Amino acid sequence: MIPYGKQSISTDDLEAVQRVLNSGWLTTGPNVAEFEKAFAEYVGSKHAIAVSNGTAALHIAMLACGIGAGDRVVTSPNTFLASANAAGFVGATPDFSDIDPVSYNLCPDTLQKNWKSDTRGVVAVDYAGQAADTKSIFAIAKENDAFVIEDACHAVGGAFESDGQLHKIGGHRWADMTIFSFHPVKTMTTGEGGMVTTNSDDLASSARLARNHGMTRDPDLFQGLVGPRSGQVVEGLVEKGPWYYEMHELGYNYRITDFQCALGLSQLSRLDSFISRRLEIVDQYNRELKDIPLLQTPKLKDETQEKLTSWHLYTVQIDFAVLGKSRTEVMNELRSLGVGTQVLYIPVYLQPWYRKNYGYEAGYCRHAEDFYSRALSIPLFPTMSDADVDHVISRIRQVLS
Ligand SMILES: *Cc1c(COP(=O)(O)O)cnc(C)c1O
Repeated sequence: MIPYGKQSISTDDLEAVQRVLNSGWLTTGPNVAEFEKAFAEYVGSKHAIAVSNGTAALHIAMLACGIGAGDRVVTSPNTFLASANAAGFVGATPDFSDIDPVSYNLCPDTLQKNWKSDTRGVVAVDYAGQAADTKSIFAIAKENDAFVIEDACHAVGGAFESDGQLHKIGGHRWADMTIFSFHPVKTMTTGEGGMVTTNSDDLASSARLARNHGMTRDPDLFQGLVGPRSGQVVEGLVEKGPWYYEMHELGYNYRITDFQCALGLSQLSRLDSFISRRLEIVDQYNRELKDIPLLQTPKLKDETQEKLTSWHLYTVQIDFAVLGKSRTEVMNELRSLGVGTQVLYIPVYLQPWYRKNYGYEAGYCRHAEDFYSRALSIPLFPTMSDADVDHVISRIRQVLS
């Protein structure tokens, strides 16, 4: 059975993890800082903050941007639940703006047209790895005093070109903060894990506080505890000894372990090779699936992205109605022939919780609904052999003929 996505674990990965397990440091240790430094260098950002998962990364990005009750956060409906839920975590209203029918990412014109005055944040998702149009989105957001958080969970290692220059996702200037996930199905893994990158010192230090209970041990930041009552001097209450810490914000425990970061470092060193294998497979799919009737291969909005997209997913669209088979039937037939597929994504606002809490209804984002009704993600992962790729292509031909 060929699954739709799968991690690649090498003996180097195993040894890296084992070294840390034997070292005695299990939680926050030297590998966390080293992974953050290597990741920041890779994407070209000033700061990188490693966290326990991509959802935690979204949450601390919301907190760092100061988004909260009374604010609205707009994201793409064509995403995993977490991109929108994070707005809910901080008491803001999650809202949605329709996708562009070519890139399946937020459409900047639609975003601008439907902008509401209480919008304080936009979560721009890089669906399947294709870079969102953050340049346009950032311009719209900044006109309206709002933050842009790029949800690059699909785009670890991706880049795009603008004015003839290469911009790595996570390092460019058209997002205030960028978040990544290292879940095994993504382009590199730490088991569970995530990262926040930013070029802003203030946003980075807020994110670091939020990751660890809002606590600091940095003497430069100390504000002092609530002082003793007037007239009383209690030496034990004012002494700032080596144990001393202060809590400045309501934070969480979103720390990542040292052995996960050792795995992250090892995976990061192979990320470019993972992506080039993904690109090879995508090339072959594009060539060999493009003339199957009723099937549409994924498109890029901008040709320059062809070699720069990290391709987390390969999602085709199939006209199931004309085919005369339901999507479930197609998936089951493919499964019985050893080909796993997945449907990504159900437009988030259609979920019962969103309907119950915000009253969203079907028809809110027509392009996202249309895309969802025809989407099918087929296997794409770096350890797929040429024979696996051939097998997937021939079985799809067979089931759709
Ligand atoms: C995977 C994913 C997340 C959440 O990441 P976790 O590490 O699973 O918490 C958020 N947004 C998108 C678009 C994702 O694909």
